[in-house]
Amino acid sequence: MESLYWVFTYRCNDRCAHCYNESGPNGRTLPLPDCLRILANLPDRMGRLILSGGEPLVELRKLLAICDAVRERFGPGLPLMIQTNGDLLTEDVLGELDRHGVDRIDVVSMDRWHRQRGRRRGELGRLFRSAEWREDSDGLPLTQKRVFCFWGATEDLWLEGNWPRGRALESKAARLDPDHNFCGLWSGAVGFFDDGSPSQEVAIQLYQVFPCCPATWFSLGDARREKVMDILERYRGEPAFQALNRGQPASLAGVEVGAQYAARRLRELGSVCLWCDEFFREHYAGPRGERRHFR
Ligand code: SF4
Ligand code: SF4
Repeated sequence: MESLYWVFTYRCNDRCAHCYNESGPNGRTLPLPDCLRILANLPDRMGRLILSGGEPLVELRKLLAICDAVRERFGPGLPLMIQTNGDLLTEDVLGELDRHGVDRIDVVSMDRWHRQRGRRRGELGRLFRSAEWREDSDGLPLTQKRVFCFWGATEDLWLEGNWPRGRALESKAARLDPDHNFCGLWSGAVGFFDDGSPSQEVAIQLYQVFPCCPATWFSLGDARREKVMDILERYRGEPAFQALNRGQPASLAGVEVGAQYAARRLRELGSVCLWCDEFFREHYAGPRGERRHFR
């Protein structure tokens, strides 16, 4: 597995209008024993593990326990990354993350949507550098330790493609564009079956497994109860998921419903992800005819 992206909590100190998970101070979260069950079910070999939220630093003790368990199971060789809004990052917290084996920290709040609007960038940069972390401005290898990076939601990529979900949809922060195929980009579903491909990423939202970061309406399975690779294997022969693996949600049309109908609905709904939701909700039954796993 090239990349596994795990949202282990929806708790967050913030409550941004563009949040696609409806994260916030009262967001859902997982007890540590469930997190440890999920860790035991992750693939044996991964190119990277990304821990995200919600805001992972809101649950710092749990995050550190997860990091310890990651190092115990996978050793020092697995690149372990966290994505954070950076609001709660201090010298002490950075020291703890370092001691518990975090290799890379992406501060992903450098945009107009987050409360700080990138105002802490200078301060955080100095904090990292004084602890001898290095900024990834030139594509450092994943094996490099103590790397940090700043980025944020961009209007053209993330808001048009990734966010027709949760609060982003309710608040109309998500700008719908039927011609924007987020599915064919990194964090979309493209290549999620293709072991070893640089575009392969599978997402776990709390415990549910999805082929992409925005999450399909249909969840592939429960990572607390089953190995992630076994869950993926069950859907490998499914034409619908093969279409998503090609990054072509419009091809869901050819599987269960007519292509013309699908093309019309995609335009009416305004987003490949909303069409994908409708397809799985109304036109798809799983390999065992099940319709019970949903986001
Ligand atoms: S976008 Fe990030 S910082 Fe904002 S509420 Fe969602 S998880 Fe929290
Ligand atoms: S179209 Fe479906 S599979 Fe593709 S990114 Fe959107 S929700 Fe995920």
